Amino acid sequence: MDLFRVALPNPEQEITKAEIVSIGTELLLGQTLNTDARDLARELSELGINCYYQSVVGDNPERMEEVIRLSLKRSDLVITTGGLGPTEDDITMGVCAKIAGSELVYHAESERRIKEFFAIRGLVPSDKSKKQVMLPSDAYIMPNDAGTAPGAVFNFEYNGQTRYLAVLPGPPMEMNLMFQRELKPWLKRYSRHHLHHQYIRTVGIGESQLVAKITDIIHNQGLVSIAPYASAGEVMLRLSVMAPHDMPIDEVNALIQPVAEQIKERIDEYIYSEDNKPMAEVVLSLLTKEKAMVGFAESCTAGLAAAELAKIPGASRVLSGGVITYCNELKHSLLGVSREILAREGAVSESCAIAMAVGARSLLKTDYAVSITGIAGPEGGSEVKPVGTVWIGISHRNGSFARSFLFAGDRNHIRKVSVLNALDLLRRCLLSRE
Ligand code: ATP
Ligand code: MG
Repeated sequence: MDLFRVALPNPEQEITKAEIVSIGTELLLGQTLNTDARDLARELSELGINCYYQSVVGDNPERMEEVIRLSLKRSDLVITTGGLGPTEDDITMGVCAKIAGSELVYHAESERRIKEFFAIRGLVPSDKSKKQVMLPSDAYIMPNDAGTAPGAVFNFEYNGQTRYLAVLPGPPMEMNLMFQRELKPWLKRYSRHHLHHQYIRTVGIGESQLVAKITDIIHNQGLVSIAPYASAGEVMLRLSVMAPHDMPIDEVNALIQPVAEQIKERIDEYIYSEDNKPMAEVVLSLLTKEKAMVGFAESCTAGLAAAELAKIPGASRVLSGGVITYCNELKHSLLGVSREILAREGAVSESCAIAMAVGARSLLKTDYAVSITGIAGPEGGSEVKPVGTVWIGISHRNGSFARSFLFAGDRNHIRKVSVLNALDLLRRCLLSRE
């Protein structure tokens, strides 16, 4: 039996404007982070479809209808997420059917699929599942390969305009799979452009300083748009170009590359990645190339740096291990930091960072050792060593050194940025030795 009641229509016009309506009272209460909207927004932008509005509305039929109607006034395509489950408060399909002038009727194929979904797991659907097989009579029904609730695409005239209303489930895995398998291939055919990006990632320079260095390039941007994004300790530049689907990738690159080169000339010393690779991955490839092993001695980051490297597949090729020496006693007994250094200069000092790195290299028998010792706060700061003071040390065959940093932000931000900068210091050390 044919799964779909009606085929997805072929839009006569390009779909250029879309809007996301996220449904769920838990989103309004801040109990769930709206990752569905983020994921969809990203996908739409890559497809070259403008998304000028996002809304969130609770599980209330009147307000839901009001928001969806408003969205339909301004956008070709409205995508809703959530509220398709079997419980009483899951009312999205009914509300959308009403707006589209459609009726909910029994859909045998969906019932068969839901029974199968439960059977594979040794379960029988409850009566509640009956609600999920009541589906719009004249919409395209999208199967849910990761759950039970099917989705739908309505196509109708709204105030004299052709409109599409796509209804997706809320759980992120189900939403994403349905979007990838059903909506995306369809949208790809009807948006004629595609957004291509190149990412330049930098560390060691603030957003405004970085922008100041390339202001003229940003102001004169032509086909390639340039957008800076600051996140924990780094600034990323996104270079984008909207190209027709059929433009060969070499031609797209030929548009982006000259701008990328111009930018690189100005900020080269801060760039650690030109292809969106995270810092840990960049460090991992440099260590692999040198066939070198690294170990860590961490105080305020308590293992975060080693864990960051371990996130990347292939870490075992370069990561020996690490020690967490949070208290001074362990800095002394495990790493051999002298009691004199600890008493005279303190644990957050150049001498201590160097001694920790030297100690870790000999304890862990690695080519490189990285140490991190700092004051993450909120307490423990002083006038000479304010909260955010972090010393990062490196020890290798030919010597050892340490650098101090003063990071702003709360405790966990300081710890995160310390890790990024520790890996960056190792990266610079590896590059200078090439
Ligand atoms: P279910 O069959 O699980 O009830 P549903 O389609 O009715 O699915 P909701 O009831 O709205 O979806 O949400 C189910 C769960 O999915 C939520 O508790 C939440 O964990 C997650 N979820 C819903 N909407 C979103 C969203 N916009 N972003 C991230 N997660 C979401
Ligand atoms: Mg639900």
